[in-house]
Amino acid sequence: MYDAVRQTDPEIARVLDAELSRQREQLEMIASENFTSRAVLDTMGSVMTNKYAEGYPGKRYYGGCVHVDEAENLAKQRACELFGADRANVQPHSGSTANMTAYLAFCKPGDKILGLSLSHGGHLTHGHPVNFSGLMFQAIHYEVERGSEVIDYDKLREQAKRERPRLLIGGASAYPRTWDYAAMRSIAAEVDAVFVFDMAHIAGLVAGGVHPSPVPHADVVTSTTHKTLRGPRGGLILCKQEHLKAINKMNFPGIQGGPLMHMIAAKAVCFHECLQPSFRDYAQRTLDNAQALAAALLAKGFRLASGGTDNHLLLVNCKPRGMTGKAMEELLEEVGITCNKNTVPFDEESPAVASGVRLGTPALTTRGMGPAAMERIADIMDRAVTARGDAAALARLRAESLELCRAFPLYPELG
Ligand SMILES: *Cc1c(COP(=O)(O)O)cnc(C)c1O
Repeated sequence: MYDAVRQTDPEIARVLDAELSRQREQLEMIASENFTSRAVLDTMGSVMTNKYAEGYPGKRYYGGCVHVDEAENLAKQRACELFGADRANVQPHSGSTANMTAYLAFCKPGDKILGLSLSHGGHLTHGHPVNFSGLMFQAIHYEVERGSEVIDYDKLREQAKRERPRLLIGGASAYPRTWDYAAMRSIAAEVDAVFVFDMAHIAGLVAGGVHPSPVPHADVVTSTTHKTLRGPRGGLILCKQEHLKAINKMNFPGIQGGPLMHMIAAKAVCFHECLQPSFRDYAQRTLDNAQALAAALLAKGFRLASGGTDNHLLLVNCKPRGMTGKAMEELLEEVGITCNKNTVPFDEESPAVASGVRLGTPALTTRGMGPAAMERIADIMDRAVTARGDAAALARLRAESLELCRAFPLYPELG
């Protein structure tokens, strides 16, 4: 693999080799990551990267767009078929620009937007002060309830009636529970707000039919294509016909320039893969693995935010095991498990320390791991906590996680 790179740039070739080894030899539990298929990888690395195609299929500002038009049309058609959506825009470079497009299609700078707080599982782009969404708009937030750690939609309704936001935003990066889309729809209707749902994390579960879909309820649905959807890095917007013009115009020329046609072609491949029966099976196994991991961790005395999960991720509160999230992330790295520290609702630690870690099953499920592997991972985590500071014991645990990785080869054809 990477023969041409090796010829031209041995330094970067070494980096690519090292990253492939890292992905193969670590248990990847970052909830937002996955391993794309070889077909997606090849399409991303194709000649489509050479083409400028500002505009939309049939209405480009450049010549020579006949083939990129085909790719973009296929991506749009497949996205609509996959999610039962009216219309799709497949050009956003990322989930963040998809959100920026959706917000600016409906709001002027200074308008009020209401989204889930970052510290309660929301995303930076849902109005955090350091992000464009907090800088450009008057952002206010809802939170989960103390105790249950889930959203109380009656309270959200009261808050929305009091605040009257222009935009009601649903969706999260670290919320392990299903959303009440119908309640959010009715809240938005009551206060005359636009309902945007950001399904970046759960899109693959929705596509696989194992998680309720926001598409029938929201005015606009935004997403990434690289998390549970297992495609190339990128963004996606689904909307009703009546909103398409505003969305398209805001994405280009409003926010972006030329679309990344190699990524759009790879999104088409991803959607094709997601339309196959085997993807439904993948999505179900991702959920089954999250359930198995949750049960095993609870049995070992870990605490889970909201007590468990309905999707592909768990938020583990490490405090009952005497650790911060930061310390846990570092300890798990040492035994070959990659994850990220994460605040838990009402966290008393700063985000840089945090009380929890977020764990997800999408990537390991792609490798073929099942519930037995999840139990083994929970056991490694438990023994790592007990063995803290014992270098020899941690090295033995690292060897165990490596053995687990080798039993489920990743990209064997890449040599
Ligand atoms: C990951 C994520 C995004 C941002 O996606 P990027 O492609 O990293 O910009 C937006 N919203 C949510 C809820 C996410 O989880």
